[in-house]
Amino acid sequence: MNSLKFSEIYFTEDAEGLPLTEKIFALFKSAEKIALESAKELCFAPQNSPEEVTRAKKALFLTVKKNNFIEKCPGTAGHLCCNYFVAKNILGCPADCSYCYLQAYLNTRAITVFVNTADFLRDFEDAASGQTLRIGTGEFSDSLLMDSVLDVNKNLIEICSRTNSLLELKTKSADVAGLLKLNHRERTVMAWSLNPSALAETEETGAASPLKRISAAAAAAENGYPVAFHFDPLIYFENWEKAYEELIERLFSKISPEHIAWISLGALRYDPAIKAVIYSRFPDSKILCGEFIRGNDGKQRYLKYIRMEMFSKIRAMLEKHGKNMSIYLCMESPEMWKQSFGKLPSDIPRLDSIFKT
Ligand code: SF4
Repeated sequence: MNSLKFSEIYFTEDAEGLPLTEKIFALFKSAEKIALESAKELCFAPQNSPEEVTRAKKALFLTVKKNNFIEKCPGTAGHLCCNYFVAKNILGCPADCSYCYLQAYLNTRAITVFVNTADFLRDFEDAASGQTLRIGTGEFSDSLLMDSVLDVNKNLIEICSRTNSLLELKTKSADVAGLLKLNHRERTVMAWSLNPSALAETEETGAASPLKRISAAAAAAENGYPVAFHFDPLIYFENWEKAYEELIERLFSKISPEHIAWISLGALRYDPAIKAVIYSRFPDSKILCGEFIRGNDGKQRYLKYIRMEMFSKIRAMLEKHGKNMSIYLCMESPEMWKQSFGKLPSDIPRLDSIFKT
């Protein structure tokens, strides 16, 4: 919480008086409070400018969402989908990763917080108890970085402990102390995105260091949580093999494979619209160096041979530590699966829980 600072808090009339609104006003007393008639007043126009994206990191927008808190991840055209559901109670993130797709995806000049928490929790419980889902809060924000304000994860963990659904809390935070002793019944997977330290230092502003994330994961595993890791986005740079190998060695020096629910691999991909924003906001970033090709989904990706090399080598580095882990590719084509893994996910029975509806 100490690192969270907001200079402006916008709010709509229906958010006024709700407990979370009052709490946020009290926590950030010195922030300017600005009443809005409608969310449209905060839309980027005509598209996200670098300055506005930067400003949006320091502003909150408190409003009420009427429905559709839970949605199926739309996946991406021509790529194998991992049947994930997304819970949306916040749109935007206080950390600032150079590659973050939210810079182009979101169109509001603030981090949006849906302050009708009771409605969110009711929708979440309906969805999680109605069928067996894999559901996460880390697609439109980081699952933990704002939890000192929202204080919602303990409720989500408790709800999932009574269902067969699996909650994934995906984060770059190391602040897990408040969640460790909860009765999770192994229905919550604590997940960390990981990149080598040299990259995290320059490309992941506001996130805990990868070593702290690994220590937090070890603490979660010691307290019985299944843990997961997302090597996503994998970034191709000089000496990438050595850097990822060191990271993976460090990971398995702290975590045993039997605690790992899944590991995903996803190569850097980006919407071309984000390129100018990255160049302007992160002039020293190395992530756009190299050759990219436009995929069927319109996103820029590394050339196929580079992706294939990274996926197969990193999978081999991981499997040195255990042969039976559920390792999968995120948003890749059947062809890429065959070339880098030699199989489709349907040929790997332990991935059924991820890829079968
Ligand atoms: S932590 Fe995740 S959501 Fe937040 S800026 Fe980084 S990539 Fe985006």
